Amino acid sequence: MTPASRPRSARAFQRAQRSLVGGVDSPVRSFRGVGGSPLFFTRGKGAYLWDLDGHRYLDMVGSWGANILGNAPPPVVRAVREAALEGLTFGAPSPREHELAERVRRAIPSMELLRFVSSGTEAVMSAIRVARGYTGRDKVVKFAGGYHGHSDGLLVRAGSGAAAGGRADSAGVPQSVARETLVLPYNDPDALRSAFERWGEEIAAVVVEPVAGNMGLVLPRSGFLASIQRACRAAGALWIADEVITGFRLRKGAIHTIDGLRADLVTLGKVVGGGLPVGAYGGRQEIMEQVSPLGPVYQAGTLSGNPLTMAAGSAMLDALGPEVYGRLEQRGRGIERALLGAAAREGVEDLHVARAGSMIGLHFGPRPPHDLPSALEIDRKRYGKFFWGALGAGAFLPPAVLETTFVSAAVSLRDVAFAERAFQRGMRAVVAGRAG
Ligand SMILES: *Cc1c(COP(=O)(O)O)cnc(C)c1O
Repeated sequence: MTPASRPRSARAFQRAQRSLVGGVDSPVRSFRGVGGSPLFFTRGKGAYLWDLDGHRYLDMVGSWGANILGNAPPPVVRAVREAALEGLTFGAPSPREHELAERVRRAIPSMELLRFVSSGTEAVMSAIRVARGYTGRDKVVKFAGGYHGHSDGLLVRAGSGAAAGGRADSAGVPQSVARETLVLPYNDPDALRSAFERWGEEIAAVVVEPVAGNMGLVLPRSGFLASIQRACRAAGALWIADEVITGFRLRKGAIHTIDGLRADLVTLGKVVGGGLPVGAYGGRQEIMEQVSPLGPVYQAGTLSGNPLTMAAGSAMLDALGPEVYGRLEQRGRGIERALLGAAAREGVEDLHVARAGSMIGLHFGPRPPHDLPSALEIDRKRYGKFFWGALGAGAFLPPAVLETTFVSAAVSLRDVAFAERAFQRGMRAVVAGRAG
């Protein structure tokens, strides 16, 4: 696929760049990660998206995980439409807020009290403030490769493995803020133990993605999450499970709880907003009672708990039953097999596919990744070739390495077969890329 075959998207990008920074409102949409110019979409329905030039694509980005039922699922669209007719925002309480909150609590009982915000970034940023307010401590532990939104203290990843105080990934983050973030390797309970031995009494919270979806897809090794819970309990720190992707994506509720674990605070986003802007944070009652107006930790939002988002979220959660998760598992497995089958037929030997239900990680590299350094071994050029090859055959994959591919419940068996043909085109491009 060349720019010539999608002139309208190319023109839209030219125009967008004159008024929007880089032509986009979130950097990963720019396609820089795969070397090219972005598609502009005009419509999404079910498993498919349509671009400005009228091409159709099987959607495997799913708005980065939000669209678990596919694009424009009828019950969610209906709920939003009905809510809109009743008023777009009140800046005052509406029953829709506690109606969605009750649904969330039923599914995640550890969220005894919660609050809605407008993005995952806000949710995690606020949970950290609560943890600091509650413990009276300042340091936060995160894991290299974990993404928790773009707040200052969380845009810090790795100081060469050691937790000697992070270095920011972004300009504009004060050193003094970055220093309060300790960055540890994912899947490494020993590093966690040493960090707690050294800084235990200063640590307010450990924040972790229970299944890491922002360094490709990296599953937690057995015992890793339990070691976090143990370390936090022993030191009086709080455990924040960042389930912005995983919440309601892998089961109807949180994923960190499946082994009987229970984080002190949980953050949500993406799916729980039904496709509208959302975040939520919550946890044990006595901790959440620190939040204003009950307690001294201030956090607010003009559009928080927006009636349209609340209506969309409730309709979304009501639609998520066991049959949906069964289907997501089956289709996820189908896509995984399609990827591996296409790679095998084209003789691509360095593809590793990781999967958790409908989350899929694609990694071209010497070994399957288990942490950030191994995830960074991905061959970016090969992923780029694969991306464009598959796109030319009608499959829209994440336009950046280290992102998760999402399968929606709208994907049919025919769509899986379609995807497999597109993947084969992608693999052929990878092989051709190597030869050339
Ligand atoms: C997407 C994401 C966030 C940030 O959510 P936004 O709504 O983009 O601000 C936070 N944590 C995780 C794990 C995410 O995947």
